[in-house]
Amino acid sequence: MYTQRKVNILGTEYTITMCHDSEDPRMVDADGFCDETTHEIFAETYNGESENPNSKRNLLIQSQKVVRHEIVHAFLHESGLAENSFWAQNEELVDWIAIQGPKIWKAWKEAGAV
Ligand SMILES: [Zn+2]
Repeated sequence: MYTQRKVNILGTEYTITMCHDSEDPRMVDADGFCDETTHEIFAETYNGESENPNSKRNLLIQSQKVVRHEIVHAFLHESGLAENSFWAQNEELVDWIAIQGPKIWKAWKEAGAV
């Protein structure tokens, strides 16, 4: 199923599209991607458990993580950290932020820091 929503990334509107790889050729061989040139984020849509024995089980959790990952790419790009920034292109760092972001947000909330 193809769904879209808008998100504001440092003042720039991005369109987030959730779809299957059969619905957009750019999704083939990718869980997601961020196109900073068109302000688009694509992520494979999942909403349940996989029946594929070689797949991760909770695909909603995986899909949400992919969206967070691509949003981090968009934030870095919109803040001026693009192709010439070594660390901002580091996939391990981007993924770490995507994975830890909700936990950091929860700790900040509990501490009254946000
Ligand atoms: Zn990435």
